[in-house]
Amino acid sequence: MNYAMMCHRCGSSHTKAPLSEFDWDEIECADCGEFLDTVGNWEASHSPSLAFQALSMSRTLSMQMTREAQAHASKGATGRVAQ
Ligand SMILES: [Zn+2]
Repeated sequence: MNYAMMCHRCGSSHTKAPLSEFDWDEIECADCGEFLDTVGNWEASHSPSLAFQALSMSRTLSMQMTREAQAHASKGATGRVAQ
């Protein structure tokens, strides 16, 4: 796993990934050894599932809007036929 983040102490973007990837394992700066984050916290803030959730939510919303627009259009059509 490549933990992309910048060291707040020396500005280096080289991180030292822990050998294991437990939630409590620490990610350190490879240059100065500063503690940057834990694996669990990093994964929580960079989890792709959040992006997927947002994506599926917006997709659901756009499908709803399309369906409503179609419902309005068909209502208008039948209204015109009735006149
Ligand atoms: Zn550093």
